[in-house]
Amino acid sequence: MQPNNPTPSRFSRLSRSFNLQDTYPCPICRNGTVQNMVMMETLSCSFCRHIFSADLSLQILRVEDTFPKLTWIWNRDRWRTQTPRDSDLTYLVWFTSAFLIIIPALMIGLPAYVFPPIGGLQLNSFSIVWGEMTLGLHSLIAAWLLVEHYQLPSYVAAKITLDRTIEQLKDRIKNQFSMQ
Ligand SMILES: [Zn+2]
Repeated sequence: MQPNNPTPSRFSRLSRSFNLQDTYPCPICRNGTVQNMVMMETLSCSFCRHIFSADLSLQILRVEDTFPKLTWIWNRDRWRTQTPRDSDLTYLVWFTSAFLIIIPALMIGLPAYVFPPIGGLQLNSFSIVWGEMTLGLHSLIAAWLLVEHYQLPSYVAAKITLDRTIEQLKDRIKNQFSMQ
């Protein structure tokens, strides 16, 4: 007779208080499990390898190897962000992103309109194409800055997967050379 629970959870003992014996979903990458490291007072994630410390009396988990050091509180089935991100840093990130997107493209695009080339400004004029390329490239840099700041779980997971693929490729190439 099967138990009447069709979706057994990966974290079967979730609805309980935060302790060092159980495993918990990682609040950073949301892919790995956070568990106590052997013989140590810290915890680590099986996927992103971030190191955490725990305050069991307050049910708090704190990441130790990033800046800013974010904390989460365990509310019996999931993590809730405890500390708001450093607002000064957040303003700086948004300001820098906006600056990167607007100013360089404006500096290239505006003179093209103010001093159009002989024969008139065309859509394929060098300065227009250059301005569009600058806008596109700087938007990508700004997007990277923002996802790095907010540490979006899918971005973190993709970054780790890419790092591991590169490591595996390096190992394979090393093995190929050592066999020859
Ligand atoms: Zn993780």
